[in-house]
Amino acid sequence: MKKCAFCESQSAVKDFCGCGHGATFGCSKRPACLDCETSHRRVFGPFFRALLATNAATRADSPRTRLLAILNETAAFYRREYRDGETVLASLRATSSFDRDAANFRLRISDVATRLPLNGGVAAHLVGKIKNAALVRAAEKLDDALRETCGAAYTQTDLIAELEARHQTVNRSR
Ligand SMILES: [Zn+2]
Ligand SMILES: [Zn+2]
Repeated sequence: MKKCAFCESQSAVKDFCGCGHGATFGCSKRPACLDCETSHRRVFGPFFRALLATNAATRADSPRTRLLAILNETAAFYRREYRDGETVLASLRATSSFDRDAANFRLRISDVATRLPLNGGVAAHLVGKIKNAALVRAAEKLDDALRETCGAAYTQTDLIAELEARHQTVNRSR
C-alpha cells in the first residue's frame, strides 16, 4: 500500500505529487495524497513563492520580515513532528530578512521548504497565521490562490490605505 510522503495517509495517494511546485519542494518524485497535493498547490506553493519574491527587508515590518516570522513560528510549532525540526529552526534563526545576498536567501528558504512537513495540518496552521497578520495577506506579492484560501479580498488600494492609517496612528501616539 502506497503511503503519502507528507502525512503518511494511505488513501487517495498518487505516485507523484502533481502540485506544480516540484522545483521548490522536490515533491514531483514523491507520493502524495490529494489533501497534501492540494495544500501544496493552494498554500505552500503560493506562500514560498511570495516569500522568495520579496525584496530584502528595509524595516522591521517589511513583507519579507513578516512572512519569515510566520514561517519561523510555524516551523517551531511543529518542531517535534518532523525529523529535521531542530535543523530547520537553526537554519531559519540564521536567516535574516535584511540579508541582501539573494542567492543565499533563496538557498536557505528552499532548504527549509524541502524539510518542512508539507501536509494539510501544517497548511491550516500557516493559513491561520497569515489571517492573523492583517498586513501580510495584503502584501502585493501574495498569490491570488493563497489570498482566496485566506478569505481575504485585499487590493493594492486597501494595502496602501491600511499602511497610511497605521503610520498615522504611530505618528499620533508619539
Ligand atoms: Zn498526505
Ligand atoms: Zn507537491
